Amino acid sequence: STLVINNDRVQSQTKNKSKFGNRSFRPNQREIINATMSGNDVFVLMPTGGGKSLTYQLPALISEGITLVVCPLVSLIQDQIMHLSQANIPATYLSANMEWSQQQEILRDLVWGHDFRPDYKVPLSENIFMLKSIKNDFLMLLWQSFNRPNLRYFLRPKTKKCLEDIDCFIRTNHFKECGIIYCLSKMDCEKVADKLRECGHKVAHYHGSLDHAERAHVQKQWSKDKINIICATVAFGMGINKPDVRFVIHHSLPKSIEGYHQVSYCENDVDCRRLLQLIHFGEMFDPLLCAKTCDNCLKELSWVERDVTDFARQLVELVTMTRQSSSSCHILEVFRGSLSQNVKKQGHHNLTLHGAGRHLAKGEAARIMRYLVTEGILVEDVKKSDNTYGSVSSVLKVNHQKVNDLRSGKQRIALKFPTP
Ligand code: ADP
Ligand code: ZN
Repeated sequence: STLVINNDRVQSQTKNKSKFGNRSFRPNQREIINATMSGNDVFVLMPTGGGKSLTYQLPALISEGITLVVCPLVSLIQDQIMHLSQANIPATYLSANMEWSQQQEILRDLVWGHDFRPDYKVPLSENIFMLKSIKNDFLMLLWQSFNRPNLRYFLRPKTKKCLEDIDCFIRTNHFKECGIIYCLSKMDCEKVADKLRECGHKVAHYHGSLDHAERAHVQKQWSKDKINIICATVAFGMGINKPDVRFVIHHSLPKSIEGYHQVSYCENDVDCRRLLQLIHFGEMFDPLLCAKTCDNCLKELSWVERDVTDFARQLVELVTMTRQSSSSCHILEVFRGSLSQNVKKQGHHNLTLHGAGRHLAKGEAARIMRYLVTEGILVEDVKKSDNTYGSVSSVLKVNHQKVNDLRSGKQRIALKFPTP
């Protein structure tokens, strides 16, 4: 194609209007069209309905010659032909279940005659082969992280005047902006909503006990900005497609980070919140990428690296000594020398390693433990405990496939700790 790019732009926008009736381009359409028109190979991955068709139909219309579109489904092909015909763009299709004579007729109409088949077949199969091989590379690139860079994370200790704190937070940071406050119980929802209403916010509550009409009413008011804060249980979540939600407050700890993570998430006042969350999803994360968008990173702590191999080894041995039937909390208690009833009852205060980590702060010991878990040296085995409440608890086990290097001294563990 010998068209000049700038002209293409003018021409493509005009055609976009006149032929396809679109007033402007959707995201990436212009870039794709310009890249194709300048003779580049372009790989496009867009969701259904994203507007892919235009990105090859429009270059087809502007350029000379014929555009060949390969499509996996006959129904899709027919749909495309229908739309192109409606726009008075000449188009036809070929498919394997057509009569040979019919295929020949179409090829003749394209003035390609009999040369067509050998010409297109080879490059096409080569292209498809190439596409298949690069697809895997793209899948790697497309792997989605759980990190949400546009969110900022802040944890605050919950005090008696927590509702005043929430009011103050909203007033200072998000006054009159939209936000959701998640509560665990229906009663909390109503309590928080009442209090914030008293403070002058436009707020509603939303939970499972609302009937259909009440729910619809709240949702309508919310979408029309008649209220800007919703106090809700998780019943409110799906289908709240509001683009201008600026804050989410968890009035109580969300269920998803209960248990061990409540030990290691809320009490952790040094590690990046994103790192802690992403570890939970089995994802690596460089805290530098957080760029001070969580409360812990904002503290600008300075760090020193300490070798904690001996402590790590002691924790592993404690797990073994307690016959791999204790929770991480219990192991940490024994490690730090607790003389609680529970520790004594099980005789764990008599273990040689009881108190081996007494000079470590609780958070420091917990971080070494967490490192062992994320490295897979210790594994959490979720078990239904045999008490009558049937509660779920998890016990720590040693992963014998991964522990050898640590035991033999081949693996050293160094962790960064904040300097006081
Ligand atoms: P895809 O092939 O990616 O599934 P389509 O090409 O069928 O998506 O486009 C989906 C819808 O969006 C179609 O109705 C199409 O007319 C419309 N559309 C595409 N591009 C634009 C645009 N720039 N402006 C307005 N509507 C568009
Ligand atoms: Zn952070």
